[in-house]
Amino acid sequence: MIPISESLSIQDCQRLFDLNQYIENARDTFLGYPVSKDFDYSEINHFFKYPINNLGDPFENCTYKVQTHELEMEVIGFFAKLFRADPKDYWGYVTNGSSESNLYGLYLARELHPKAIVYYSESAHYSIRKNIHLLNIPSIAIRSQENGEIDYDDFENTLKLNRNKPAIVLATFGTTMKEAKDDVSKIKNILKRLVIQDNYIHCDAALSGSYGAFMQPRFPFYFMDGAESISISGHKFIGSPIPTGVIITKRSNRDRISKVISYIGSLDTTISGSRNGHCPLFLWYAIKKLGVEGLKKRYLHSLEVAEYCEQKLKTIGIPAWRNPNSITVVFPKTTEEIKSKWQLATQGDISHIICMPNVTIEQIDLFINDIENCTENPNEITEFSW
Ligand SMILES: *Cc1c(COP(=O)(O)O)cnc(C)c1O
Repeated sequence: MIPISESLSIQDCQRLFDLNQYIENARDTFLGYPVSKDFDYSEINHFFKYPINNLGDPFENCTYKVQTHELEMEVIGFFAKLFRADPKDYWGYVTNGSSESNLYGLYLARELHPKAIVYYSESAHYSIRKNIHLLNIPSIAIRSQENGEIDYDDFENTLKLNRNKPAIVLATFGTTMKEAKDDVSKIKNILKRLVIQDNYIHCDAALSGSYGAFMQPRFPFYFMDGAESISISGHKFIGSPIPTGVIITKRSNRDRISKVISYIGSLDTTISGSRNGHCPLFLWYAIKKLGVEGLKKRYLHSLEVAEYCEQKLKTIGIPAWRNPNSITVVFPKTTEEIKSKWQLATQGDISHIICMPNVTIEQIDLFINDIENCTENPNEITEFSW
């Protein structure tokens, strides 16, 4: 039944109705992207009637008052604590996603060390290369190991050749394809061993940062392990109707770059001027509703489903594997039919399923069933049709 609108024509109502069906269908069958779909923000929907804008630094006063800075500060505090930052020396803001958070981390690093070289692994997210290009910083790509983790020997050897230059290192906690984790303390130790005192480690924890604190044994990606800034995406593990992210850094680093802007009566410390004020509200609501225990439960559920998925794939003869504590199941690339139906991301010769908190055992069973019944050959060579 198409809802009747007072402002739109029947045709336009039909368009919206169709769009809704399309989005709903698409939402219900994806397993290949790190996006949670089980959020419910209906209790705070009424905030959509306000022109909320979190202009300026969330920790400073601003003359524009239709904002959610206070909740934004609480969100930053929550993650700073989760990432074991110094309670007296942290800062951050809610961004448009990890791509912006990474840009911010690299920007801070470059302002602190203008003559530095950036080292990043070949498995780093595509936003990293783009951000390095935008900031115009010299950079060197480092090999990654088979499991997707940075190759520490290649890193150390490359660093040795550039010992006279400050070093910015882009570590990834949960790479996009294999959810591999670069060890920040190992990276820090290599920098120490080579006596490169001017250094900065940014940790891109887009997906895994939201549950990294619950991994056993503890994985070193925190501030106390040597990270100067950490980024996460809010629409990934936590879930949000609008893409969002968080950057946490040290207040002392931010202080080095802040400028007072009289027009907004605040400090210009963020990348965008006008900033989304609804997303901090969603994140605040989610962390209040879940708490640390709720987040942990979400992770344990995901982990269980990932273990199940890996085992099931192995049972039907597919050599699936996972990095330790990871919710991403990696396997050889599958047929077009399966890839398209379940919206599986594929890179080179591998595909993956990411067992986000909304993924259930039943969905995995349906997926496995589809693979078993698929007659298409995954290795078929596509040919020109003429
Ligand atoms: C998703 C992802 C990003 C980009 O995050 P957006 O929020 O989509 O901008 C960066 N790094 C990693 C490792 C990611 O998985």
